[in-house]
Amino acid sequence: SLNFTCQVTGSPTPDVRWRTQNLTSQFYTQEQFWGSTLDLVLILTNVSSMDNLHNLTCEAENQAGPQEKMVQLDIEFPVKIIYLRNAEQQHHWCIPFAVDGNPEPEISWLYNGASFTLTRYAYMQLIPDSLDGSVKHGCLFFNKPTHVNNGFYTLVARNRLGGANATAEGMFMNNPFGPSDPEGLIPGEASTKSEMDVTENLENRVFVVSVAVGLALFACTFLLILLVVINKCGRHSKFGIHRSSVLGTGDDLAVSLRFLNFGTSPPSSDEDSGLSSFVENPQYFCGIIKDKDMCVQHIKRQDIVLKWELGEGAFGKVYLAECANLSPDTDKMLVAIKTLKDATESTRQDFQREAELLTVLQHQHIVRFYGVCTDGEPLAMVFEYMRHGDLNRFLRAHGPDARILDESHTPPLGQLTLPQMLQIAAQIASGMVYLASLHFVHRDLATRNCLVGEGLVVKIGDFGMSRDIYSTDYYRVGGRTMLPIRWMPPESIMYRKFTTESDIWSFGVVLWEIFTYGKQPWYQLSNSEAIECITQGRELERPRTCPKEIYLLMQGCWQREPQQRMVIKDIHSRLLALVKNPPVYLDILG
Ligand code: ADP
Repeated sequence: SLNFTCQVTGSPTPDVRWRTQNLTSQFYTQEQFWGSTLDLVLILTNVSSMDNLHNLTCEAENQAGPQEKMVQLDIEFPVKIIYLRNAEQQHHWCIPFAVDGNPEPEISWLYNGASFTLTRYAYMQLIPDSLDGSVKHGCLFFNKPTHVNNGFYTLVARNRLGGANATAEGMFMNNPFGPSDPEGLIPGEASTKSEMDVTENLENRVFVVSVAVGLALFACTFLLILLVVINKCGRHSKFGIHRSSVLGTGDDLAVSLRFLNFGTSPPSSDEDSGLSSFVENPQYFCGIIKDKDMCVQHIKRQDIVLKWELGEGAFGKVYLAECANLSPDTDKMLVAIKTLKDATESTRQDFQREAELLTVLQHQHIVRFYGVCTDGEPLAMVFEYMRHGDLNRFLRAHGPDARILDESHTPPLGQLTLPQMLQIAAQIASGMVYLASLHFVHRDLATRNCLVGEGLVVKIGDFGMSRDIYSTDYYRVGGRTMLPIRWMPPESIMYRKFTTESDIWSFGVVLWEIFTYGKQPWYQLSNSEAIECITQGRELERPRTCPKEIYLLMQGCWQREPQQRMVIKDIHSRLLALVKNPPVYLDILG
């Protein structure tokens, strides 16, 4: 119980009352006169925690005027969980909750009964000023969760008077790795199996293994006969291995690969190319390149634990994952996993080709490729994780329009400075010098295909051609072909001619993207208008924050005659010189 005394004096004697209409607790009042003063005592019995933070007001009034005074109730009570609901998809995934308690409760979480550390991908946010007294509403948010995050989340709330807990389920997605996933990858799965299931599974497995052994024997005999026949004809089988798919005619990427400088001069035929022999090994795709045995490394599915989705690629989703046993000196590493959804024979071949290509390309400004995971579905490629994602998004997030473009409503990041922009450009140029030294034509150089890591390290990160999220950057011609026309020189648009020189043109456009903080080239024009402008010889305008020296470099890349364009080595050296000695630039408009 609580007593509140409102002592009043005045002449004539005032009328006094407590404002009690919103009180939840039971109460009564008592009056006591002491000469000219009056005490009006409010007695709350069995105080309700619902009245916490309630303003109790005493009003007094006589003919000379009114007055009022107020006290605030501060009622301490143990924690109560008002609600905790299962995960629901809002802008992000959220497990909504409301808790009440005074002193303010401390909140922590358990995942499947074990302690759970919040990260930037699974974080808690309280809704400020929820106009609900002392009740705190909030969400346990998940940023792009995967099946690995499925499970039971227990909210534990506590203050010095007591605690409470409640559990909700987060069911975010089915395992994209399918039922072939090793046991234990999905939390809790193994432990829910009954003994009967296990015996039944054992019997099933014995049956499946017998059938599989039979089929494998049959397949081996068949393959042996096939190989003998093919060898007699002096040709290589499609399976024996990937040579035909690497050097297959008519394929765009393959044509680029043909001119990789494997020997001292470009090979004249398949037979005497640097890719002189292939090891038929089911674990690896191998080739001998520049006298080095280059094999696509195979990574075991059980060594990969997916964490969250990072984005959507042309072939399938891209995930952040933890990978064990990648190198002898580190236990686990963060990696980016690109999956191949709904693999058809032709996408499988593209996948394999890209893996072979990526194994060959090794440079500090080309994203590091660790290998493939092909035991089960989906097929996956494993790359080094580049923390800040693709360069186009990074430029926009560090530009003047960051606030408008921001989806996460975090405070805007600082704008990129001129030396930083030059540093970014020089790193991409360095990667391009390397590709040009291999006579490798990229064909799709753009900031969306570069990745940004810790410490502003930038690497060329993508060698595919079609995109989902950046689909407006591509122009569909005749059915399936998508062309990044805004990055292409006139000869590529008109004659589909892609060369080291056409990559230089694209590099000029990349410079323009960097200095406009990620604007789309010719953003004011439709695809057909952009094609008309480029083929007629119109140039992108000088960006507002671009020094003359850099615009001269861009113009050096945009010479109509491919042979007149600057060479990447010179561009790289110019950029390095500018990084060392950045030009003084006054933005007179801003
Ligand atoms: P694809 O080549 O299949 O089209 P992308 O390379 O474009 O796939 O990847 C899609 C998105 O995934 C990128 O825009 C980027 O945000 C993210 N991503 C891809 N690779 C990495 C990586 N190595 N590190 C971090 N994020 C990555």
